[in-house]
Amino acid sequence: MSIALSCEFFPPKSDEGASKLMGVAEQLARSLAPEYFSVTYGAGGSTQERSFATVTAIQRDSGIPAAPHLSCIGSTREGIAAILDDYQAQGIRRIVALRGDLPSGMRDPGDFRFASELVAFIRQHSGHHFHIEVAAYPEFHPQAANAEADLRHFKQKVDAGADGAITQYFYSIEAYSRFVDDCEKMQIDIPIVPGIMPISNYTQLARFSDACGADLPRWLRKRLEAFGDDLPSLRAFGHDVVVELTARLIAEGAPALHFYTMNQAEPTLAICRDAGIVPT
Ligand code: FAD
Repeated sequence: MSIALSCEFFPPKSDEGASKLMGVAEQLARSLAPEYFSVTYGAGGSTQERSFATVTAIQRDSGIPAAPHLSCIGSTREGIAAILDDYQAQGIRRIVALRGDLPSGMRDPGDFRFASELVAFIRQHSGHHFHIEVAAYPEFHPQAANAEADLRHFKQKVDAGADGAITQYFYSIEAYSRFVDDCEKMQIDIPIVPGIMPISNYTQLARFSDACGADLPRWLRKRLEAFGDDLPSLRAFGHDVVVELTARLIAEGAPALHFYTMNQAEPTLAICRDAGIVPT
């Protein structure tokens, strides 16, 4: 089965982590030929320098285009304009445009309130140079007043000029299918690419899920919890769950797949292999 793939990395904290990440990127590039590697970006300045360095290294050395994430909360228009110009000069053609979350202790939201304003600003400043991805939430964003409001806000990002969307991870395929159906009814016609999170550590996954509003279904939480410290069994079970999810997403017509790699090659490679994905 051939389907377009993308892989997400976070900026490593050390030189050792950076060289390890380039090894991971090379391995994924060789085996999966992804369309792009995306690199996360901490809102309000927390990881900016490391994000820039990672984007530059990937774009220069991996043979696969880099797509920087750009979160706007806490930023000025001038600051974002300078970053866009720098990326354009580096030959970057794709950006994942986000609001981000204001780091604790930081009060000033800056010039942007929502990701839709960032998308509009990118179009105004850089025209159509960048392909813009935005975030989508099949289980709805934790701060949304309700599902209907969240869908309306998602549409605002599309109307502002987004070309595609990547979803928050989910383990309930029904949530994704219904979200895509609702978007179709609202004449949203951009590809909505499922974000896939491999399962390799229960505590970390439960913490992430609680923070970002992704639902870990009760049956899955209970199963993972029961493995306790038996990591090999937890990983084997988690792998089966995610392979099945991935295969169903492909069978149901997902336009592409985006992997949250957590800077590891093997879990993503094993899922792709067992879900029958071959490089495009
Ligand atoms: P928005 O689309 O602006 O939405 C945020 C909230 O505001 C939603 O509840 C929405 O309903 C509401 N809203 C939007 N517009 C309006 C309006 N006009 N009036 C009232 N309410 C409104 N975070 C990072 O810091 N760095 C990253 O690199 C990063 N990468 C991510 C990648 C993906 C694929 C995903 C799914 C998330 C990522 N995040 C990242 C997390 C993201 O920044 C947070 O989820 C953040 O809380 C929301 O960002 P957003 O772009 O979805 O915001």
